[in-house]
Amino acid sequence: MNPFAYDRPATVDAALRAIAANADAGGATANQNEIRMVAGGTNLLDLMKEGVTLAPHLVDINRLPLDGIEETPGGGLLLGATARNADTAWHPLVEQRYPLLSAAILAGASPQLRNMASNGGNLLQRTRCWYFYDVATPCNKRAPGSGCAANGGITRQHAILGASEQCIATHPSDMCVALAALEAVVHVQSVRGRRAIPFAEFHRLPGDRPDVDTTLAPDELITGIELPDAARFARHSAYLKLRERLSYAFALVSVAAALDIGADGTITAARIALGGVAHKPWRLPEAERLLEGARPDDAVFAGVADALLQGAVGRGANDFKIPLAHNAIVRALHVASQGTVTNQGTRQGERE
Ligand SMILES: Cc1cc2nc3c(=O)[nH]c(=O)nc-3n(C[C@H](O)[C@H](O)[C@H](O)COP(=O)(O)OP(=O)(O)OC[C@H]3O[C@@H](n4cnc5c(N)ncnc54)[C@H](O)[C@@H]3O)c2cc1C
Ligand code: SF4
Repeated sequence: MNPFAYDRPATVDAALRAIAANADAGGATANQNEIRMVAGGTNLLDLMKEGVTLAPHLVDINRLPLDGIEETPGGGLLLGATARNADTAWHPLVEQRYPLLSAAILAGASPQLRNMASNGGNLLQRTRCWYFYDVATPCNKRAPGSGCAANGGITRQHAILGASEQCIATHPSDMCVALAALEAVVHVQSVRGRRAIPFAEFHRLPGDRPDVDTTLAPDELITGIELPDAARFARHSAYLKLRERLSYAFALVSVAAALDIGADGTITAARIALGGVAHKPWRLPEAERLLEGARPDDAVFAGVADALLQGAVGRGANDFKIPLAHNAIVRALHVASQGTVTNQGTRQGERE
């Protein structure tokens, strides 16, 4: 491992000053510049050990007072950036009000990893494209301009939507798929001030800059993730994750589905996001609108799946993802329509 300097500030201001000073020192590429803070370390330290990331200076953010989970005045929740994934998933208010988020987090990684992994770090974990981790192969995300070994290589895990010639990697997080469906907002801060980034604008499609995963600036610290009031979706939601093995594995395809079903049995609003299919959680509000006013029905859900997957392109080894995603969307909407299955295995809001 390469040597690196290490700070462990106790206040946000001190952390921001340290980050700004390091950002000024500048790394040679976006990969080096991008990664300065360490939370759980479950992704960053692996990347450093593999030689993918050469962070010359780490700022450990675990002493910052950012590990709370608090109610917001608008009926939502603010999840602290350094709150652990496990503490978030099992928090009573998250389980009760955002069962979709709780289920998505618990579908990710292993219990040990979820105990270490932080909410902020989960948003910024990097793709699991194996060529990205193999420094002997060309990869535009790791070394801009070097090429893409996945294009024409083994593509089983790769994108079917939103990819570019430069990069066909997928975004790996489960938590982020639920956050996209719930229209979360990412709160960030730097020495230049604070800003709030709507979740749909946080992760990027690769285009010709696959080395840049998000719209976060190198000197910006994620302080929290705000969940707007989503009480109307709590009774009818489901997170369906399809993967190589149940113990733990990244998603081949995942679906976060949430429905608001009125007293007359018709759907008044729907939220759907897909994981494992694109460089960011994939959401199309126009496909969701197809459900408004409809009764829950698999034929209607199939039409929504067609709309969500419009333009999907396979690369041979990942062609199977297109029908798999189609079936998963229908299945997730069907399960959601029957009532949320809680972490205790009971159903909420079961329909007659
Ligand atoms: C074997 C294995 C299996 C896994 N399986 C899954 C899975 O199935 N689903 C899934 O979703 N995830 C999975 N993960 C990934 C895991 O969820 C992530 O590694 C974890 O969420 C990252 O959080 P962290 O706190 O450890 O981040 P770190 O490794 O500490 O940091 C990750 C990145 O975020 C940056 N960062 C961290 N916090 C902040 C902040 N507050 N502000 C700005 N930048 C910040 C760091 O600089 C770094 O670039 C798996 C990981 C492993 C090792
Ligand atoms: S798909 Fe993206 S991450 Fe994978 S090798 Fe190509 S450029 Fe790199």
